[in-house]
Amino acid sequence: MRALRYDSFGGPVTIETVPDPRPEPLDAIVKVSRTGLCRSDYRAWKGHDADVVLPCIPGHEYAGTVVAAPTLPHLVGRRVVVPFVIACGDCPECQHGQGQVCRFQRQPGFTDPGSFAEFVLVPRARTNLVPLPDSVGDDAAASLGCRFATAWRALVGVARIQQGDSVVVFGAGGVGLAAIMIASAMDAQVVAVDISDDALALADRFGAQVIPVGARNRPQDIAAQVREILPDGAAIGIDAVGSPTLATASVLSLRRRGRHVQVGLMDGDSSTLPIGDIVARELTVLGSHGMAASDYPELLRHVEAGRLEPQLLVTATVGLAGAASALVGMGGSGQPSGIRLVDPQS
Ligand SMILES: [Zn+2]
Ligand SMILES: [Zn+2]
Repeated sequence: MRALRYDSFGGPVTIETVPDPRPEPLDAIVKVSRTGLCRSDYRAWKGHDADVVLPCIPGHEYAGTVVAAPTLPHLVGRRVVVPFVIACGDCPECQHGQGQVCRFQRQPGFTDPGSFAEFVLVPRARTNLVPLPDSVGDDAAASLGCRFATAWRALVGVARIQQGDSVVVFGAGGVGLAAIMIASAMDAQVVAVDISDDALALADRFGAQVIPVGARNRPQDIAAQVREILPDGAAIGIDAVGSPTLATASVLSLRRRGRHVQVGLMDGDSSTLPIGDIVARELTVLGSHGMAASDYPELLRHVEAGRLEPQLLVTATVGLAGAASALVGMGGSGQPSGIRLVDPQS
């Protein structure tokens, strides 16, 4: 099969012909229809993720069709999405429905061959395949593998958003825009903070009031801008980027007893949050990491009903060759906004 591959961190990303994956009895093989280009792919290629095994076929956010499943033959031919955290199904976390933090987790594009390929192997298929309703198209389904599901779980499962809560989203990339769409669908008052005018234009389209910031803004200044819109502060703040400045700005933007959710990964875990403020105002700081397959049905019901439309976040679709140049270019300025998808069959 054709697949994108790199052999060294920061090195060339090339299209190679590699052996088709062969399933063991508990595995499935999925023919990839759409796969998303996520910032984590860029971090992995740059060598900022200690779990990456070289040579690496990147890609962890995808939807496709099951073409082989030795112990689940009834799923062959079904369209599926697969969460990027491949859970074992057996460990204590998995037994409690928390496969997103499985202690034996594997991740395509990091520990295992990824989805920038015609086919991808899904270990522990019974635990990890999520069948898709026919009405949920490939463009909508792809980002459910990582970014859209991550935003959903951060707001609904982790922050426990209530109808009418105020939400401030730091970073209007794929995860941030998804969070804006989800919070708006729940009648939240949503504020979006970003440095990109293009990203903020999309945030505005999906229902957020927008705050442009510069790379040198201090957290205190950003929080003051949020409070011009939300004088009492936000019920929920999300750092969708992974920035010490934005994480601190999020905490400072919260109302009393508000919840900060950290979604973006930080290089070097270098954040210092204002602990005194967290104690004095009884703030809650939460981490959120993907979503277990068992939590997908509720999200899929909202997508099926048209209350959430992940496909509207898709701004471009490229083939494998386009994915190679897009991946290595992700660190540059002027990046396209929204979710970019790859069709690895083209
Ligand atoms: Zn991702
Ligand atoms: Zn497990």
